[in-house]
Amino acid sequence: MNTLLRNANVVDVRTGDVRRGVDIETADGRIAAIGEGGSAAASSAGVDLAGAYVVPGYNDMHAHTLQLDDPSGAYRLMLAHGVTGYRQMAGSPQLLARRAAGGFPDTVDAPALLLLPGDLLTPLNAASPEAVREEVRRQHAQGADFVKMAFIAGSVYPAAQEEANRVGIPLGGHLPGPIPAEEASRLGIGFIEHLGPGLGLLSSCNHDHAAIHEQLAAEKPMRLPRFPGAGKLFAKLIPRIVVNPSLRTSAETVAMMRRAVDAFDEDRVRALAAVLAENGTWQCATLVRVRASQLSDEPAWAENPALRYMSEATLKFWDRTLERYRRLPASTREVFRELYAAQLRLVRLLDEGGVPMIAGSDVTGAIWLVPGESLHREFDELAGAGIPPLRVLQMTTLDAARFAGADDLGLVEPGYRADLVVLDADPTADVSAMHRVSGVVRAGRYRDRAELDRMLEGVAAERSGG
Ligand SMILES: [Zn+2]
Repeated sequence: MNTLLRNANVVDVRTGDVRRGVDIETADGRIAAIGEGGSAAASSAGVDLAGAYVVPGYNDMHAHTLQLDDPSGAYRLMLAHGVTGYRQMAGSPQLLARRAAGGFPDTVDAPALLLLPGDLLTPLNAASPEAVREEVRRQHAQGADFVKMAFIAGSVYPAAQEEANRVGIPLGGHLPGPIPAEEASRLGIGFIEHLGPGLGLLSSCNHDHAAIHEQLAAEKPMRLPRFPGAGKLFAKLIPRIVVNPSLRTSAETVAMMRRAVDAFDEDRVRALAAVLAENGTWQCATLVRVRASQLSDEPAWAENPALRYMSEATLKFWDRTLERYRRLPASTREVFRELYAAQLRLVRLLDEGGVPMIAGSDVTGAIWLVPGESLHREFDELAGAGIPPLRVLQMTTLDAARFAGADDLGLVEPGYRADLVVLDADPTADVSAMHRVSGVVRAGRYRDRAELDRMLEGVAAERSGG
């Protein structure tokens, strides 16, 4: 399919430079040619984008959409919000086999599946160093792009990392509680999600860190009860845990969070940032997910107009989850508020320290997150942390491509994939411009605002049974 976009202002996300009045021609899902206005085609055919800005498509680098029974609604929501690619954060041998058989072809009707892991590492498959080594080897052989840790013990982690390094597969995810981020970084962890989660990176970023790490090391890791069916029960519990993990925070952990916040130390953050930058340890902060979990009762969440794209069952589940959050002691909720403020400071300092970062939202599965829209909220959270607009844009485009090892993604250049977002304001000037999506190109197919709105209305109608 060939598309011609005329008179666009093309943003070079490497530098923030804008080339004005440019024509973009696509063919077979790729950018075929870029030229000064009028040179790409002598005719007046194509779409006139005069005054609009063109950037590479957005990528949600922490998503769970493939786990949905029917992800088609989520995909339409993502595309309508300019999300043209995503990293799937939990896979399975079945999904890996399906991909190997060509089950996820590039299509104009869904964002691109950039990366796919195998099963999450949990006490189910990673209860001992021997078991975790075997599981890492198995997932590598199954064709996983990376291995994601979810709930593994600190005593098991070094074996997992060593085996991943040995076979050459990236390993990352949730930092095992007692392992300081700087230590995991030195051992070779590829990426850390949600700034931890929980206390996570902040456990290193305060002048009380030695005592806090000692206390974390003494904590008992999550163990599965040993009875037939325990694994199945655990798998069933996972959605209830991940919808808001902060609900499971123990009083001891809340006290540690309090100490870490009170003793927050910018010099310690800079020291950690230096280690993470030196080792190329990626961060996918998913601030929107952290905020939704830790500050669940902010009125803006329940009042979000985009909730109309979610099913009745999901909204009821989230309401029940909010009720559980409201039953937390007021003092705990206050600690979460201060913790979140500290996490915003942390993210800004990590960025200033040159730590590689990608933008992700953790949609779906987490409370309050709506596909597509959640990534825009992540842009706002990153900007709210004090990160400049161009950096936010890079985290969802070029840095996402670098993370994925895709050398034909993340720039508006000939030969690159024709996955583009059209904006009606300059995104390098203000992050809010990244929300002003007036068109989306996916695999070369252009959709204007009216068509994107029809997609959104279609999803809303299905949700309300219309
Ligand atoms: Zn996740």
